[in-house]
Amino acid sequence: MELIFKTYRIKLKHAFGIARSSHTWYDIVYIYIIDGDIIGRGEAAPSLRYNESTERILSILKQKVKLPEDCTQRESIWNHVLPQLNGIKALEAAFSMALWDWAAQKQQKSVFDLLELNTDKMPLTSFTIAIGELSEIGQKIEEAAPYSILKVKLGTPNLDKEIMVEIRKHTDKLIRIDANEGWNPETALDLTKWLADQNVEFIEQPFPADQLENTAVLKSKSPLDIYADENSINSADIPKIINAFDGINIKLMKCGSLEEGKRMINLARFYDMKIMLGCMVESSVGISAAAQLAGEVDKVDLDGNLLINNDPYVGVSIKDGRIVLPEGTGLGLTVNSSSDNII
Ligand SMILES: [Mg+2]
Repeated sequence: MELIFKTYRIKLKHAFGIARSSHTWYDIVYIYIIDGDIIGRGEAAPSLRYNESTERILSILKQKVKLPEDCTQRESIWNHVLPQLNGIKALEAAFSMALWDWAAQKQQKSVFDLLELNTDKMPLTSFTIAIGELSEIGQKIEEAAPYSILKVKLGTPNLDKEIMVEIRKHTDKLIRIDANEGWNPETALDLTKWLADQNVEFIEQPFPADQLENTAVLKSKSPLDIYADENSINSADIPKIINAFDGINIKLMKCGSLEEGKRMINLARFYDMKIMLGCMVESSVGISAAAQLAGEVDKVDLDGNLLINNDPYVGVSIKDGRIVLPEGTGLGLTVNSSSDNII
C-alpha cells in the first residue's frame, strides 16, 4: 500500500463571500491510498477559521506520514495514522474518506453499505447564495433554479435586509440564513423577527462561538430555530450547546471522520436537536463522502462542489433537488474526463 498526496486549486464560479472573508479559489489537498488496482481517495479542505491551512497540511505530509507495516485492516491503519496528523481535522477527514473508500472497494461494497447507513430518505439540499455584489443576485438565483431551498450568507448587519429584499425580488423559495458569527446582540432579535416573515427556515450561527449566553437568549425569544456551525465542531460540543441552539450543522472537515459524523448524529438525536449536514467549498470527493451520511439527517446543505467550475471528479449528483449517491463501490468516484494529472 502506498500513500500519495496532491494539491489542487478549486475555482469558484462566483466570489464566495461570507461574514468574515471572500475567496475566488481555495487550495485543497487530495490524499490517495493506493493498493494494487484500488485507489482510496480523500480530500482536505482546510479552514483558516480553525487555524488550518494548505501549508500546514503539506508540511505534515512532507515529513512523511507513515502507514503501519500491516495494512490489511482499515481500523488499524487509521489508528496508526491519526496521531501523526497533528489534530488537523480537515486532514483527518481526508484520511478517513480515503481509508473508507479503499476498504469498501476492497469488499466490493459502497461506503454507506459498509457503515450500515440509511439512504432511503435523502432530504432536499440547499444551494448557497454567498455575499457579493447586489447586482449579481438575479443571476445567482437563476443558477439556483434546480434547488428548492436557498442558503443565504448574511452577517453584515447593516446590509442584511438590503440583500434579502433584493433576493425576494427574484424568488419566494424557502431560505436558510447563515450569519457566520457576524451578528450582534443589539440587532439580532429584530432581524430574526423580520426574517421570520420572509419564508426563512432557520438562522445558522448568529454570534461568535464564544457568545453562548447571547445565543441562548436569542434562542429563547426567536421565532426561528437557531443552528450551530462554528459552535458544533464535534460530538464533545453538543452537550455544551443544547440550551443555546435548536440544531447543529455537521461537517466532515470539522469533525474529522465519518464515524465522528455518525456519533454527532446519534448524540444530537439523543438531545432532540435537529441535524443538518454541511460542507466547506469542496470538490466531489469531500461532498460524496459527506453524502454517505445524508440519509441519516434532517437537512442537507452539500453544495460545495456545485459552486466550483473545475471539479476534477464525478460523484454525487442532484435529482429533483435531492442528492443521489453514485453507483459503484467505495465512494463511487470517477475522474472527470476533462481533468489532467488526476488519479
Ligand atoms: Mg455555516
